[in-house]
Amino acid sequence: MAKIGFIGLGNMGGHMANNLLKAGHSLKAFDLSKEAVDRAVANGAVAVATAQDAARDVDVVVSMLPAGKHVRSVYAEAGGVIDSASPGTLIIDSSTIDVQSARDVIAVAHRKGLEMVDAPVSGGVGGAQAGTLTFMVGGSQEGFNRAKPILDIMGKNIFYAGGPGNGQAAKICNNMLLGIGMIGTSEAFNLAEKLGLDAKTFFDISSTASGQCWSMTSYCPAPGPVPTSPANNDYKPGFAVDMMLKDLRLAKEAADSVGANTPLGHQSEELYGKLSADGYGNLDFSGIIKMLAGRL
Ligand code: NAD
Repeated sequence: MAKIGFIGLGNMGGHMANNLLKAGHSLKAFDLSKEAVDRAVANGAVAVATAQDAARDVDVVVSMLPAGKHVRSVYAEAGGVIDSASPGTLIIDSSTIDVQSARDVIAVAHRKGLEMVDAPVSGGVGGAQAGTLTFMVGGSQEGFNRAKPILDIMGKNIFYAGGPGNGQAAKICNNMLLGIGMIGTSEAFNLAEKLGLDAKTFFDISSTASGQCWSMTSYCPAPGPVPTSPANNDYKPGFAVDMMLKDLRLAKEAADSVGANTPLGHQSEELYGKLSADGYGNLDFSGIIKMLAGRL
């Protein structure tokens, strides 16, 4: 059984840590929030006072933090986790962050002789709780091989995406496509309605024709055709507008940094930005269909 340090026990990290505990690993828990640490302790973790303490005398450090600036400060600042981790410690950062921060922090770890991978997830809080997350992993092949048995406990599909930062690249490219796809699907259902075409009839046709996509068949933004989609539950998340906006901003930043032409990604970021600015950041991201229809 491994000794694990876990940093960031929020909505996602709390469940992920719990699955590691349930699998029999020992876990040191650190979060800035006392409530988050208390929940982990109730599940069998040992509370520690600092991120550095969480990283001392463990085999693996796992983190689930809000953004790149948190990951940089926890790991790469002088006296941070990378400075205090014992030789041979494996570091797995599962936060969704910008590609450059992931690459910079992994480079700092490598300079100290520590193996580190970026391993962002998709699957949301439900997937974190059920241990069915998808992990997209960037780093060395050896880092991936060492991380895989730990990730297997928290997830169902574990992909190796290539070198450092490539996990983040896979995550933001996928979510940019998801944002664009959801807007396109919403526009199609809104136009169908205006043209007098019933949503279910349009769904039956398009879901077996060339317009078919995940946003339609698994997460339909129009109420009715897919019973499990948030459209049938007042657009409660699910995956909130503000989380989609975060990922679209990361995609835009990444696209700008490498000169990639992503006009629809940019426009999706603007539309979700408007929805959020109008006060709907906590709506499920499929609720954009209502804004596009002028119903908000
Ligand atoms: P959250 O805000 O619930 O949890 C983040 C935790 O990190 C909080 O408990 C916070 O106190 C802690 N934290 C912040 N700074 C810290 C520091 N310096 N040291 C220690 N702890 C610190 O967020 P979440 O929903 O759990 O998301 C975590 C990450 O997972 C984010 O990068 C997010 O984009 C990504 N993600 C979230 C979801 C989702 O559905 N919630 C899905 C996929 C990916």
